[in-house]
Amino acid sequence: MAITKSEALFKEAVQYIPGGVNSPVRAFGSIGSTPRFIKKADKALMWDEDDNEYIDFIGSWGPMILGHNHPLVLDAVLEYAKRGLSYGAATSIEVDMAKLVCSMVPSIDMVRMVNSGTEAVMSAVRVARGFTRRDKIIKFNGCYHGHSDALLVKAGSGVMTAGVPDSLGVPAGCTADTVTADYNSLESVQDCFDRYGEQIAAIIVEPVGANMGTVPPKPGFLQGLRDICDKYGSLLIFDEVITGFRMQADGAQGHFGVTPDLTTFGKIIGAGMPVGAYGGRREIMEMVSPVGAVYQAGTLSGNPVAMAAGIAQLTYLKEHPEVYTKLNKTADSFFSELQKIVDESGRGYQVNHICSLGSMFCTTQEVYDYETAKTSDTKAYADYCNYMQNHGIYLAPAQFEAMFISAAHTQEQLAQTLETARNYFKNN
Ligand code: PMP
Repeated sequence: MAITKSEALFKEAVQYIPGGVNSPVRAFGSIGSTPRFIKKADKALMWDEDDNEYIDFIGSWGPMILGHNHPLVLDAVLEYAKRGLSYGAATSIEVDMAKLVCSMVPSIDMVRMVNSGTEAVMSAVRVARGFTRRDKIIKFNGCYHGHSDALLVKAGSGVMTAGVPDSLGVPAGCTADTVTADYNSLESVQDCFDRYGEQIAAIIVEPVGANMGTVPPKPGFLQGLRDICDKYGSLLIFDEVITGFRMQADGAQGHFGVTPDLTTFGKIIGAGMPVGAYGGRREIMEMVSPVGAVYQAGTLSGNPVAMAAGIAQLTYLKEHPEVYTKLNKTADSFFSELQKIVDESGRGYQVNHICSLGSMFCTTQEVYDYETAKTSDTKAYADYCNYMQNHGIYLAPAQFEAMFISAAHTQEQLAQTLETARNYFKNN
C-alpha cells in the first residue's frame, strides 16, 4: 500500500529531528500511530498534508480558544510584522499587554512576559524562593509545569517523597528541594508542611489538573492550599497555563474565588504565538530584575508581533464575556452527552470536565488524582483515539491530556464528533 505524505514526512523527519517532532506528545507514539503533518487550519478545522480534514480538539494545546485564524488576531499579526519582527527594546505594546493582563486578573499588579509556559513557571518559582528566602517547593503528582529541572518530578509514592528526577540529565540536586503531594489531598499537603514547615517557599498547583487528563479540584482544595500557605508564610502559585483566560476572563482563580500570590500563563496569552507570562502582587514582582535581586531575562520576551496577537485575543475575550458563557454551556452539553454515550456503551468510563476542558478516562474508577488517573486503560484509549482520528476527529493522542473546545466549534461539528464516538462504541 502506498504510504501517505504524512508517513513519508515522518520518515524523513526522524532523520533530522529527535523522534521526528519538536515536542514529544506530537509523535502519536502513545497510540501506536505516526503524526499527521498539518498544513493549515481555520476556525475549528485542520487539514493534513494528505488533505484529510479534522475537527480539531487540541487547538495548539489550548491557545486557540477563538479558533484558528481569528480575523482580529490575524490582522494584528500582519500589521505588526510589517514593522520589523523584533527590536530587543522597550515598546508601547508591552505596556498595553501588561495593563490588559492586570485589568483582567485582579491578583496581578505587575506582570513579566516570557516565551513559554516552562519559562513562566521556572521564573515564578525563582521569584517565590527569592521573596521568601526559602528553597523548598511543593508540587503535585500528575501536575505538569514545563520541563525545567526542578519541576520534572511527578512520580514518587505520594506524600513527602524527596524529589526523584523524571528525566535523565536532571541532577538529583536540582530536584532535592521539590516535595510532592497528592492532588486533591490537603492531608498530603499538611504532611509536607509537618515535615518541612517554614522551609517551604511555595506550593505550585494547576488549579484544574490538565496534564493527567482533566481533574478538577475538589470543593475546598484550593482554598485549603491558600489557608495553609498563609499559615506558614509560603506563597501560592497558580499555574494557569491551561486555565488562564480559558475558564473565564480571570481564569481558574476567578472561577473558584481563590487568590494566588503568583500566577503563570502560557500559550493562550499569545493566541498561538510563543508567549508565556508570570505576575502577581507588586511587592513580590518588585523582586524581579532590574528592580530586585531575582534575575530573569529574555531577548525575545515581549516580542511585538506576539504581543499584538495576544492583545487582540485577550481584548476580544475581555470585551465579549458572552463568549465564555456560550462556550462553557456548549462544552457542558457536549461532555454530558459524551458521558451518556459512554454510559450507554456499558463500559463505565468516566468523563471529567469543567468549562471547555474535558477528558474521557477509560476506567470505571472516579478520577480525582494521579493514582486514580493511572487506573485508565491506555490501550483502550489509544484504540478510541485512533478510530476518532481516522474518522476526522483530532484528539490528544494520550489519555492524560485534556480535550479543548473552542468558540469556533459549531453545533454540527460537535454533533458529528459525538456521532463518531457513538459509532466507535457501537462497533468496538
Ligand atoms: N504548565 C502547564 C500547566 C502546562 O500545561 C504546560 C504545557 N502544556 C506548561 C506549564 C509548559 O508550557 P510550555 O509547553 O509552553 O513550556
